[in-house]
Amino acid sequence: MTHTNTTAKTTNGDLNGDLDLTIPQRHRAAIYDKPGTISTKLVEVDTPEPGAGEVLIRLTHSGVCHSDLGVMTNSWETLPKPTPAGQIGGHEGVGRVVKLGPGVESSGIKVGDRVGVKWVASVCHRCAPCLAGVDGLCINSTVSGYFRPGTFQQYVVGAADYVTPIPEGLSSASAAPMLCAGVTMYDALKKAQVKGGEWVVISGAGGGLGHIGVQIAARGLGLRVIGIDHGSKRGLVEASGAEHFLDFQQFAGDDIVAEVVRLTGIGAHAALVANTSNKVYEQALHYLRFNGTLVCVGVPEGVAQPIASCKPGYLMVRQLTVAGACVGNRRDAQEVLDFAARGVVDPHHTLVHLDKLTEVSVFLFCLLISYLGDLCLS
Ligand SMILES: [Zn+2]
Ligand SMILES: [Zn+2]
Repeated sequence: MTHTNTTAKTTNGDLNGDLDLTIPQRHRAAIYDKPGTISTKLVEVDTPEPGAGEVLIRLTHSGVCHSDLGVMTNSWETLPKPTPAGQIGGHEGVGRVVKLGPGVESSGIKVGDRVGVKWVASVCHRCAPCLAGVDGLCINSTVSGYFRPGTFQQYVVGAADYVTPIPEGLSSASAAPMLCAGVTMYDALKKAQVKGGEWVVISGAGGGLGHIGVQIAARGLGLRVIGIDHGSKRGLVEASGAEHFLDFQQFAGDDIVAEVVRLTGIGAHAALVANTSNKVYEQALHYLRFNGTLVCVGVPEGVAQPIASCKPGYLMVRQLTVAGACVGNRRDAQEVLDFAARGVVDPHHTLVHLDKLTEVSVFLFCLLISYLGDLCLS
């Protein structure tokens, strides 16, 4: 494999100084060396050559998402095939384009552009979901970090027509978690069909997804937010803009349902469940008001179960809606990055080096919630 080693200066305001276009033949990557267990290994891999319609990106940051843990440990029933050994994980990467593949010149992407790589790495633009603007569900998509090398490495190939432009002024460390957690919560809030002044309950409000969701809801969309989480998250959830914080450990049985109804008068307009508890899903349908919407975001661990309270008669008499939010679309990604660039959303993160990925994953496993660690890949 050969590379043209060039060095050039860019004029597009690189936050980290001038862009060095020297491309090494090999680079560092973290692989899942023992899929099914929490284990990663730092190795050197060949730096790929971008193919037709692709760009090569020098990554500087990657978010670490709870979904990465699901792929690493094969713990998701929804994944069609077990993760292969040697898989490079990661799906929230940010870096600069350092090389264009054939045919990319007309795409508008230039060498030096700062871009992001999301969970959905490429789409076909032709299938029914793509034509409907639901490109996150493209039936011909490829997925970063699952049967396609992900962002836990220094260089990754991206689809020129699907990478996400990163707004100037937004740090790469803050942009990374917005590419998955941010866009997912923003999409979930759209699916909640709520408008300013209405009540939304966010469960798992102090987690990686949750606290970003609270910020978008309260500061970006003018919603009244009730955040539910462990008591240790009170400070983060309140600082993120929640009007009320409920420590779930302080409520026995279904008392938390009564408390939400009391705070909102008649129940919340919407509930977003961003944690992995089946019980929380069950309770959420009980504290919604008429015409309320439950949006499913968190995937419960282990064997999938129906929501115990999701009974046709109950949904009918309250005219409730149960919706799912997955990964949003390209437009959602750009809009939510704009919230971050304007300072409306400021994702809480901890920056660690790539060689700490296994420790971060153990931490995620212990918490069993979405925590955001940001990896520094330089
Ligand atoms: Zn994710
Ligand atoms: Zn498609």
